[in-house]
Amino acid sequence: MNRAPVTVVGAGVTGLTTALALHEAGYPVRIVDPAAPGSGTSAANGAQLSWAFVAPLAEPGVLPQLPGWLLGSDSPIRWVPRLDPALPGWGLQFLRACTPRRARATTAALLELAALGRPQLDDWRTRLELDFDWRANGKLLLYRDAEALAKAGRQVDFQRRLGVEQRLIERDALLEREPALEHLRDQLAGALWTPGEALGDCRRFCEAVADHLADQGVAFVKRGVARLETRHGRLVAWHDDRGERHVLDTGETLIVAAGLASRRLLAEVGIQIPLYPLKGYSLTLPLDAGDAAPEASVTDGAHKMVYARLGQGDQRRLRIAGIADLDGWQAQPRAPRIELLKRRACAFLPALAERITAAEPWTGLRPATPDGRPRLGPTGIDGLWVNAGQGALGWTLAPGSALALRTALDGDATAIAAFRGKPA
Ligand SMILES: Cc1cc2nc3c(=O)[nH]c(=O)nc-3n(C[C@H](O)[C@H](O)[C@H](O)COP(=O)(O)OP(=O)(O)OC[C@H]3O[C@@H](n4cnc5c(N)ncnc54)[C@H](O)[C@@H]3O)c2cc1C
Repeated sequence: MNRAPVTVVGAGVTGLTTALALHEAGYPVRIVDPAAPGSGTSAANGAQLSWAFVAPLAEPGVLPQLPGWLLGSDSPIRWVPRLDPALPGWGLQFLRACTPRRARATTAALLELAALGRPQLDDWRTRLELDFDWRANGKLLLYRDAEALAKAGRQVDFQRRLGVEQRLIERDALLEREPALEHLRDQLAGALWTPGEALGDCRRFCEAVADHLADQGVAFVKRGVARLETRHGRLVAWHDDRGERHVLDTGETLIVAAGLASRRLLAEVGIQIPLYPLKGYSLTLPLDAGDAAPEASVTDGAHKMVYARLGQGDQRRLRIAGIADLDGWQAQPRAPRIELLKRRACAFLPALAERITAAEPWTGLRPATPDGRPRLGPTGIDGLWVNAGQGALGWTLAPGSALALRTALDGDATAIAAFRGKPA
């Protein structure tokens, strides 16, 4: 069957997986992005393929914590006050999404989206021999508070009904599994153990996919999309950042998968998607062979930080990530936030404290929707689709989003109905 061409805007993990899924289905694809593959928010994220940890930030339990978080200088989530007309609307939608019913529905939908993508990622990884430091060593979510650990049991029950294998483990079992955390014995209550969780370096994945697509003849257009041009409800052309106009072929679809920038591109043609930047930070610390660092991926729940071992031999490294700041649209790092990450990491793994100055800091803007659901599929303008807004879970949700979108483009609109959030 002859497929109409597709232009994908954005070579982050969302755009590249979209392009790969469509290319494999026989669509002639080209990718437009002035930047190197995976160099945006996909570059140095927490590396977690969080198949089972997809619950949205917007849930009822977050409400009592919000005031302290937003205003505290050392809190994992912080608001840097500024006049930003986009924030009040987004904030209001976020608060509205914090009901038990909506949080549960979003968790169920995102679990399904993650489960859709997981075998697809495994298939790409093995069949295309993509090397991106993938490991499947399970994940520990640490609890310092016995009451919070007991409460976690309820979420485990809910997720078990949705097919997720997880169990609570006591402190002794946790430390037997991860002796590198022995020094925290007095502070830990236990952990939630999820054996099926995996890790991978998202940027290396993007580079590997881009190389594969280039080998397959997929064109990479090194231009920025400055604006989209519509006529009578149809996308007819896009204009690049050098002033050139690119007319769409008959039946061609353009998919905006430009992360956070998707909001502006679409808003200019009247499509409102509620994306807001949640600024996060990471550190990448080179590891030596004998270094005491956890083998499994670890989330320190109290500080909302993740620790992930990546690579082998002289590429061995620890990725430490966290923080979600409402801090405007620029990705400039703030030194006190990097210092906070370093301080917490040193307290967590004191054996590595001496070398923390060797850690490479990085900042990225999560393209977050208020309800935690991505915006997937047709926009209402003929020929213009979107795949954006995976927020804190873009690495995890990219393969599933790509697959759902491809099935929808093939003509089965039900493929995306369950996952996509509503426009603004
Ligand atoms: C600190 C931190 C930790 C994280 N940890 C995890 C994690 O552990 N697990 C997980 O699943 N997710 C994690 N995430 C989230 C994940 O990294 C993002 O959701 C994901 O990378 C978003 O990918 P994207 O392709 O949508 O956007 P991006 O990677 O930002 O890609 C967008 C691309 O679009 C291009 N672009 C923008 N504007 C234009 C234009 N006008 N024309 C052409 N191209 C354009 C950009 O150059 C860029 O290459 C984390 C994020 C942060 C910040």
